[in-house]
Amino acid sequence: MKIAIMGAMVEEITPLLEKFKEYKVVEFAENKFYTVQYKNIDVTIAYSKIGKVNAALTASVLINIFGAQKLLFSGVAGAVDENLHIGDLIAAEGLVQHDLDITAFGHPYGFVPESKILIKADEELLKISKDTAKTLNLTLKSGIIATGDQFICDADKKEWIKKTFGANAIEMEGASVAFVCDALNVPFFILRAISDAADAKAGFDFDEFLRSSSKISADFIVSMLDNLEG
Ligand code: SAH
Repeated sequence: MKIAIMGAMVEEITPLLEKFKEYKVVEFAENKFYTVQYKNIDVTIAYSKIGKVNAALTASVLINIFGAQKLLFSGVAGAVDENLHIGDLIAAEGLVQHDLDITAFGHPYGFVPESKILIKADEELLKISKDTAKTLNLTLKSGIIATGDQFICDADKKEWIKKTFGANAIEMEGASVAFVCDALNVPFFILRAISDAADAKAGFDFDEFLRSSSKISADFIVSMLDNLEG
């Protein structure tokens, strides 16, 4: 089986590369792709660089060039839900683009014609994640992740995203990966560990917790791989 594991920033995939140690590097589309054999799975790892366009490009390359049959995303996010704290894990059940706005034409936020507002994550991968969390005795929350090309560090903006989309967490790549995978019929799973609360001190918290939260997310993804064999 061919599986892709994607992050947005180098810090998000570093714990994976440290875990796998022996990998090959392939350069394509101004990016590096790290390939490794884990048990009977061909794994390709890459970080896209930040934002929706970079993430969509990398997800497409992982699927169309590297042949990924499933895509797992590992990274960090800002919490919207007050029950999510730094270091907590959240799996996306569905993803939206909070910055997509043609409401001037009477459309709802996050919608463009012939498209969807919400993309649902793969049920089977969500089930595997829940089983994995149970085995590890870890709490894994799930909910709506809102994506946009903005680092959210403002309580009012965060409240607006929560109210408008029912979001639990915010980041800058998940929904674009979801749209690519959905269109190409590739099951996907988006996992984030909380790095900040998307409030006035989000910038400081992000810098402080990026590495530790990235590792929490990456470790969980590796444990999930063990349940994907075959
Ligand atoms: N410090 C970085 C920029 C980080 S942008 C630099 O200077 O290069 C934030 C990254 O973490 C994005 O990839 C996004 O997906 C995620 N993220 C974490 N907290 C976020 C928040 N509050 N708002 C939006 N994205 C957030």
